[in-house]
Amino acid sequence: MNIENEEQFDKVKSVFKVQDDQDLKSSRFFDLEKLIKDALDYQQDSEKALTLITKWALSFWSSDIHYDILENDVQLRFRIDGNLANVFTLSKAQYKLILERLKYKSDLKLNITDVPQDWKYRINDTERKIDVRISTLPVKNWENVVCRILDSTNSIPLLSDLWFMWTSKRQIEKSIKKKNWMILVTWPTWSWKTTTLYSVLNELNISQKKIITLEDPIEYELPWVVQSEVNEKKWYTYTTWLKALLRQDPDIIMIWEIRDIETAQIAAQSSLTWHLVLSTLHTKSASETLERLINMWLPPYILSSSIDIIIAQRLVRKICPDCIEKVEADASQNEIIKWMMKDIWIEAVSKAKKSWFTLYRWAWCEKCLYSWYKWRIWIYEVLYFSDTIREMIREGTSPAEILKEARNQDLILMREDWVLKAMRWKTTIEELFKVID
Ligand SMILES: [Zn+2]
Repeated sequence: MNIENEEQFDKVKSVFKVQDDQDLKSSRFFDLEKLIKDALDYQQDSEKALTLITKWALSFWSSDIHYDILENDVQLRFRIDGNLANVFTLSKAQYKLILERLKYKSDLKLNITDVPQDWKYRINDTERKIDVRISTLPVKNWENVVCRILDSTNSIPLLSDLWFMWTSKRQIEKSIKKKNWMILVTWPTWSWKTTTLYSVLNELNISQKKIITLEDPIEYELPWVVQSEVNEKKWYTYTTWLKALLRQDPDIIMIWEIRDIETAQIAAQSSLTWHLVLSTLHTKSASETLERLINMWLPPYILSSSIDIIIAQRLVRKICPDCIEKVEADASQNEIIKWMMKDIWIEAVSKAKKSWFTLYRWAWCEKCLYSWYKWRIWIYEVLYFSDTIREMIREGTSPAEILKEARNQDLILMREDWVLKAMRWKTTIEELFKVID
């Protein structure tokens, strides 16, 4: 097999068999079901049941708890690494107790069932406090509830532990030492984990500087940072809140999300007036971000002089460390990987190019809930605005041409970063073909 262009590559890449996701299952789901039903039916203790559900959801590293109303009962589900696991079903009588307790704890109106409500409750543990954001939705026959778990005492990873390629890491470190630029972190879909931004803020822990944030919601607590949370229930909008924040004399600002042209203008303006601005945007890649910025919002001269670095990222599943098994890639798999990595000249790849790549066999165990994957890892594409790139933006050069120039300055594409991580036991090529088309 000889691959010569992208079309051929697209045709042959199916030798990596992308399997459908397995249903997440665990014998521990039965244990939890028994505990919850005991607490509700015999002990009449809905507080205990709720605490148990929340803590067990955390023990399965879940991000959300769903209570979905079915015809005759209510399905409890946990979102784990992006997929939903059916944990067990509650009878409507059991759910009623949980729903009342949830609303009571979160200060929601018990008697209102026909409009959506949202707020949060806190579970205090001996070692940590866990905030849970609850949102209700009136549905056919009743009220659905989704709870998002925010474990604000989670420790924030160091920038060096986020698996950036060393060239990208060096550029990010340079960027955050500057005084008046904008650092944009982007990913395609709304995702609640913005660990990268928090890790950057962590690096910026400087007592002589005032750091202020506008968040929705606050995911980690940072003692040296003034953190504010958007509350659109009140009279103000996101933008008025942002303007109020700027009057607080900050040096470094983190804006949760660039939502519209107005937020974009305020963010760019702030970076031009000697603030370091961190923010996020929803796009698939660094070049798409450029395109979006050029086509939609900002005049080229402002864009070129406000942004310093774009970190495009994607959260992908990690291989379960408990059931991982190495295998040699077969001849066609080897050709496909060689094609994907043809532009990369780093030692590890060059060596592997001459021989065979090592891959990982599909397997599963109780610890990964029979899914092969456990936890997630970020994959990146980091675009640094060099003087040449700034000049090209000012001249109105197309994003494709700019990307070409960035490639000459060692920009690594997301799919290349992915393959590098797959070669280091972190994720799989199959996952890549499933997520990036
Ligand atoms: Zn496993």
